[in-house]
Order: sequence, then C-alpha cells, then structure tokens
Amino acid sequence: MDKSSEKKINNLKELIENSNYIVFFGGAGVSTASGIPDFRSVDGLYNQKYKYNPETIISHSFFVKNTEEFYKFYKDRMLAPSAKPNKAHLALAKLEEMGKLKAVITQNIDGLHQMAGSKNVLELHGSVHRNYCMKCRKFFEMNYILESNSIPICDECGGTIKPDVVLYEEGLEQSIISNSVREISKADLLIVGGTSLVVYPAAGLIDYFNHDGNNKIILINKSVTARDNMADLCINDDIAKVLGEAVGV
Ligand code: ZN
Repeated sequence: MDKSSEKKINNLKELIENSNYIVFFGGAGVSTASGIPDFRSVDGLYNQKYKYNPETIISHSFFVKNTEEFYKFYKDRMLAPSAKPNKAHLALAKLEEMGKLKAVITQNIDGLHQMAGSKNVLELHGSVHRNYCMKCRKFFEMNYILESNSIPICDECGGTIKPDVVLYEEGLEQSIISNSVREISKADLLIVGGTSLVVYPAAGLIDYFNHDGNNKIILINKSVTARDNMADLCINDDIAKVLGEAVGV
C-alpha cells in the first residue's frame, strides 16, 4: 500500500473512533470482492451478451409477459448461491456489534450483509432471499427458485412466485426510503461505499445527511464519484481492502 492510502486509512480509523452513530450507504462495489458482478460497471452484467438487454429483462413488464425468459436470466445471472461476505461486509457487521454503526443501507439484493452478521439492513432494492407467491403470498427461499425447472410455481396454490426484488418500472418501498432518510439524517459519520452515486435514489438520499458541526462524510469507491467534492475524506480504492484494514477484520 502506498503512503497516501495508508494515511487515509489511519484518518478513517480515527473518524470511526470518534463517531457514535455511523451509517453506511453502499452499492454494487461492496459485493464485487464476493464475486457478484457490478450491475452497471463496464465489465459488469450490462456488458454481457444475452438474448435481450438486461435492463429489458429485469423490468416489471418483461416479468409479466415473458416470465420464463425472465427466470432463465435471473437464475443464471442474478443469483449467486455460493457467494460469501467479504471484508467490507464483515467490518460493517463488527462496527454494528461494537455499537458504533446503526444502519447499513444497501442497493444490493444479495443478502451478504446479513450473512456477515449485520442486523439493521435497509435493502432499497429488495432481496433474492425473499420470494412470494403472487396469489397467496406464501414465502419461498432462494433455493426453491433455483430448484424450479422453469417458472417457480407455488406448491400451495399454483400461483407464480415473484422475487422480492425491485424491478425496473417498479417503485421502491416507501417505508425503506423513510427509514433510510431517518438514519442518514441522524448519522455523525456517513460512510458511502462501492457506488458512483449517479443512480437514483442514491444521490438524493445522501442529501439528507446533516453535514454540520463535527459530522463527517467519507466516500470509498474505486473510481471517482459524483460527490467526491462534498466528502471530508475520499478514498479511491477497493472498499473490502479499506474497511478490512480500518476495522481490522
Ligand atoms: Zn400460493
């Protein structure tokens, strides 16, 4: 590690030590070290070849009209049953256990924060680990989806099962948004990581941070983000490495 990175990580350690209400806001970059492709990055999902473009497939209307085709793509590209939490997830879980971190707000749907031990996780885009029958609302785990041959059908009533994942054309759940706004506005240290902050609603939510007095905001992302200029500390490096070092996991 070069000198400037080392200095920044020491700076981050100090900020964590001096904070009592840390909130983390994260995106796809948090899970890339776990082998889950970054949804919007150049070498991510969007660049891979498929019959339709991914943005079309992962939309509400496509799910309704082409359910079988949706599930082919979904099972193949969006589920990663063997993925394990990386040091970023583990560091955040440790900070929560220490009583310093109060909430993780994530755009990811992989459930890796909970797998690492995080308790208060606000999933803006839902989770692949929750699936519901559209008719009777019976709950199904991810394995049921993986083990279905084509379209997953409810074993109770025969209804079609839908993942609790926010598809394109669908709105985010209002209660998750308002909880996220509340947590961000209470934070004395907001750590934003693994997101370029250009996609709705990320950028808008960050605006609720109360950047007064001793409150600090830190951005950790491999590439430059839209908000680097508002950060008290900006680390352009791998988030698993940075948080792993800073928290010691
Ligand atoms: Zn059912």
